[in-house]
Amino acid sequence: MIQFNQVTKRYPGGLEALRSLSFQIESGELVFLAGHSGAGKSTLLKLIAGIERPTSGSVVVSGQNLASLKRASVPFVRRHIGLIFQDHKILFDRSVFENVMLPLDIVGFDRREATRRVRAALDKVGLLGKEKLNPVALSGGEQQRLCIARAVVHRPAILLADEPTGNLDRAYSLDIMELFKSFHQVGVTIIISAHDESLMADYGRRILRLSKGQFTQ
Ligand code: ADP
Ligand code: ADP
Repeated sequence: MIQFNQVTKRYPGGLEALRSLSFQIESGELVFLAGHSGAGKSTLLKLIAGIERPTSGSVVVSGQNLASLKRASVPFVRRHIGLIFQDHKILFDRSVFENVMLPLDIVGFDRREATRRVRAALDKVGLLGKEKLNPVALSGGEQQRLCIARAVVHRPAILLADEPTGNLDRAYSLDIMELFKSFHQVGVTIIISAHDESLMADYGRRILRLSKGQFTQ
């Protein structure tokens, strides 16, 4: 489902964020991505999402080589991906409901079906009672769950979560992990990054460990 072949990513200025990385993630896998701040975790996830392009090597997602894909086609690939990134990009001039509706509006989804999907996603993350609120009124943990609802409302095949538990205490973090587990159970391919490995240990899943842009044991 996701394949990196000798992928190097060098940012302008010369820094190599990823160095000749090769790995493969099968459809339906749940994989953790560990490593200190600056190790290259976000870069790896951005390459899968087509937000960044490799300097060399190939990134193949759902059979598509992103490096040779025309820029105009990237949005089509991204429709099959749900993103939960650190800078939430929550829109504070809209309600909780409207924030989750956004990805469906963009693809011109049927309104009734979209409304049903948004409510299902909000129900899933436990925010259905707060759909009319402005997101400012949500706690940090609730804002994170809003982001998760927005990332899954279009039922992506792949879910990428960059430090989704970064700012949350342990109890909230475990709740969030349970949510990811439930998406995993319906067949979604999931990559979750974190600098704190203690949360990952209990799940018995593959852990990819990055250090200075390379894998370590
Ligand atoms: P992590 O997510 O593990 O903290 P990142 O992928 O964000 O790591 O960063 C890896 C390295 O690439 C860091 O040294 C970071 O400073 C650098 N980097 C990340 N994004 C950019 C960018 N847009 N321009 C230049 N350097 C970047
Ligand atoms: P339906 O009721 O038609 O089966 P829903 O929109 O209610 O569909 O979603 C079913 C559940 O599956 C929800 O909890 C939803 O969050 C979850 N889900 C999230 N992403 C996916 C996905 N990629 N494929 C299938 N189900 C998903």
